[in-house]
Amino acid sequence: MKKGIAVSPGIVISKALVLKEEVVDLNTNAISEQAIAGEISRLEDALKKSALQVAKIVEKALEELGAEKAQVFEAHKMLLDDPVLKDTITEKIKKEGISADYATHKAVEELKVVFEMMDSEYMRERAADIKDIGQRLINNIVGKETIDLAVLNEDVVIIGKDLTPSDTASMDKARVKGFATEIGGRTSHTAIIARTLEIPAVVGCGQLLDEIKTGDTVVIDGSTGEVCINPAQTELDEYSRKAAEFQARKEKMKALKALPPETTDGHRVELAGNIGKPEDVIPVLENGGEAVGLFRTEFLYMNRENFPNEEEQFMAYKSAAERMSGRPIIIRTLDIGGDKHLPYLELPEEANPFLGYRAIRICLEQTDLFKTQLKAILRGSAFGKLKVMFPMISGIAEIRKAKAVLEECKIELRSAGAAFDENLEVGIMIEIPSAAMMADQLAKEVDFFSIGTNDLCQYTLAVDRMNEKISDLYDPLHPAVLRLIKKVIDDGHKEGIMVGVCGEMASGVENALILLGMGLDEFSMSAVAIPYVKEVIRNISLVKAQEILNKCLQMETGAQIKEYIQNEMKSF
Ligand code: PEP
Ligand code: MG
Repeated sequence: MKKGIAVSPGIVISKALVLKEEVVDLNTNAISEQAIAGEISRLEDALKKSALQVAKIVEKALEELGAEKAQVFEAHKMLLDDPVLKDTITEKIKKEGISADYATHKAVEELKVVFEMMDSEYMRERAADIKDIGQRLINNIVGKETIDLAVLNEDVVIIGKDLTPSDTASMDKARVKGFATEIGGRTSHTAIIARTLEIPAVVGCGQLLDEIKTGDTVVIDGSTGEVCINPAQTELDEYSRKAAEFQARKEKMKALKALPPETTDGHRVELAGNIGKPEDVIPVLENGGEAVGLFRTEFLYMNRENFPNEEEQFMAYKSAAERMSGRPIIIRTLDIGGDKHLPYLELPEEANPFLGYRAIRICLEQTDLFKTQLKAILRGSAFGKLKVMFPMISGIAEIRKAKAVLEECKIELRSAGAAFDENLEVGIMIEIPSAAMMADQLAKEVDFFSIGTNDLCQYTLAVDRMNEKISDLYDPLHPAVLRLIKKVIDDGHKEGIMVGVCGEMASGVENALILLGMGLDEFSMSAVAIPYVKEVIRNISLVKAQEILNKCLQMETGAQIKEYIQNEMKSF
């Protein structure tokens, strides 16, 4: 048995398909003057063939993985179409008198180095694309068949060193039931794709390719990180039992999808998902989410070389709005700075970036940037139920300034004849203790609050949320944090506005119970957590949750509170 990193849960027992990177024997001999034209025409044919293959992959990726993930292959297509690649290889064939395959290999290696040395992380990552496209081109020049994962005759699990973006995009998703790879981590491409496809995956297993043959029976347990090769009958029975158990739990969670998030005494809350791009609404809806409680728009600004313009942003917000068909989406304006950086936005060196020039502070100073985003959000609001939310608000003056900029945008859009929702709701994140303390006054200024417990916790407890060393001090159930959250919910309700939580806290089942007792209206979290929180809510009455909360509010430490809730939860 091999052990790797469990990156996508579930258990699968299936036949293996081993992807071995077979090294092509390149023709490194010098070629004659007369052979040059023939080599160039081999290159041209291979370029055409590769372009056709990649175009098919783009089509498939667009259909199955969405526009965002298809971009990788669009980039492959652009590389193939770029005359620089063709010219560089042709030059080498002519000047160095070498074969098309060897010239391609050399050109690709050189280009890879150029990309690897670039400043931008995004461009450095493109080196993998160059390698991918180079291999395809060489295969086509020498007439080597690439294993076509697009047409598989039986169910398989894929075993590889790592899977390339082309592998995963082109493969037959109905037949591929799991992945196990030798290298990779939680955020590697293979891991992300496995989670998107909801198939079990284990990465970083070390040696696999020499130990597994195509056709072997393999078990992949994406929850524990185990990869079992040709298991004995007793092992097979055990894994089958676990697989059935996992499936049953999954089915149970799926069955919850259609049921309302309502307590046993009829108190209804809203369960929402957090997203970073429009396509992320798909898992939110699939998991029974009824709204988007946080669209972290900074992801639209990342992995690129310049600011997204109004049109690009508008398309993203419109796409999210349309996909949610009228269900609410809270769009948070740019929250950059702190730990999140953009290569093209120079920020000053700061001793304490988390207490520095970030989020709304940047937007209120660089109003052009802010207005571009606000106009895009306003225009997007004509296509669904969008709401706008300002992050990192520390006091009333910032809200008023932000609202004034929003009004300016409305005036400009009106005079340009652009459609938008005149009643667009405006909210703020409560994630700084000063805002929590002033919530009674802030509530008069806005239509809703969303409590950012990730930051509220770090600022209240003075515990850096990124610092592993002190992570045991980071506790959303700390009585001080709970008192602040309760105050915010009570203050919001006194003014009749909706109060939600969009920090990680909302996705913990014990926390959810406490927040329910406090009367929280909306719980926003990563999509996969939604069914688990719904299960808790549907199994308790509001009265009982309030009773539990009141006991917790008398306690002295987060640890006591957690233990108490866990004990209470055993009874349902
Ligand atoms: C938060 O602070 O709780 C939050 C949701 O925002 P982020 O994690 O993006 O800072
Ligand atoms: Mg935050």
